[in-house]
Amino acid sequence: MKRIFVNANVVDVLAGSLLTQGEVLVEDGIIRQVGRGLSADGAERVDLGGRYLTPGLFNCHAHLAARVTAIQSDLIGMNWFDLAYNCITNAEKLLRSGVTFARDVGTCNLATCNLKRYVRSGRVKLSPDLQVVGSAVCMTGGATWNVGATQADGPDECRKAARLQLREGADAIKLYASGSVLTAGMDTESPQLSREEMAACVEEAHHAGKKACCHAQNNRSIRNALAAGVDHIEHGIGLDDETIELMLRQGAWLDPTVSALYHIAAHADQLLPEVAEKALRLEEVCYDSFRRAYAAGVPCGCGNDAGSSFCFFDETASEMVVMVEKCGLTPAQALEIGTINSAKMLGVDASLGSITPGKRAHLALFDRDPLADIRALENCVMTVKDGEILHDAR
Ligand SMILES: [Zn+2]
Repeated sequence: MKRIFVNANVVDVLAGSLLTQGEVLVEDGIIRQVGRGLSADGAERVDLGGRYLTPGLFNCHAHLAARVTAIQSDLIGMNWFDLAYNCITNAEKLLRSGVTFARDVGTCNLATCNLKRYVRSGRVKLSPDLQVVGSAVCMTGGATWNVGATQADGPDECRKAARLQLREGADAIKLYASGSVLTAGMDTESPQLSREEMAACVEEAHHAGKKACCHAQNNRSIRNALAAGVDHIEHGIGLDDETIELMLRQGAWLDPTVSALYHIAAHADQLLPEVAEKALRLEEVCYDSFRRAYAAGVPCGCGNDAGSSFCFFDETASEMVVMVEKCGLTPAQALEIGTINSAKMLGVDASLGSITPGKRAHLALFDRDPLADIRALENCVMTVKDGEILHDAR
């Protein structure tokens, strides 16, 4: 099947520039040509009305089996139907907001691993492509222990927990190195899984050719995770300069989830007092850590922590908005993080992340220019996956 998308401003996220009056020729789901005046025998022409065409967006930090509630412990007791329903409806919200690739970072292994299988087989169509971690690994009583994480203590139990997730089809292993803003009864400053425990999990992930990502909300815990060989630091709150240096040396990625702190802190009046206190204390610290890491050259991905309190599945764009409005990035820098850089972080940049001949045609369309105003990304009017139009609200 051939299709030419015509009359578009095609956003080049690699150069941070626009091709006006641009056209994209897609054949069998692959981008064949980008330019002007394209033609191909038998191609269907789709007029995009002068709108702005970007690569499909990425969300590297989402919890698809969750329902967005004010109090995290409200999720306790969800049954298998709740989890499956959440997965399918949340995936559709991501897709309709322009996200064509998402990584689930844990809630319940069976639901998300099965969702991925349904998406890959085509039984669930309205979803981004997925990577999943299954159930995250935490210490007994550690962050998210009460909402689906696998509790494990000591290197042997942790190794087994990681192997269980890999058996279920996990694409990465997720660890908890510190307390969490949203889990009541603990401070974010508390170190949780030890270096030795995390190192056992990282080794298993790497043996399977997969990555390890790690929730870490204080500097000491980030150090522990780096010493264990973790590939991706999630949140990364409280980074000092020495730790940033260490991340650069190890090639570790930062997935800063700055919008999560923004939205959680903005709704502090609806949270448990203890959770509100942590969010308000850490909001600026989170922005500052990201700003300094980005300026130093630490590679970053984009995730809005969808599924956490006040972090919605149709608001991936808000991560890039907060990067611009609170952290000082240009729209082009934020969009680069939300597309090609996230694709690199997840190891899929050879086939996704930019509108480049030879890559899969995962595309998103917006009314306004996101390079002029990042908030243009808040309203996606069309989503294309493998050349197929799955969402069309033009
Ligand atoms: Zn999260």
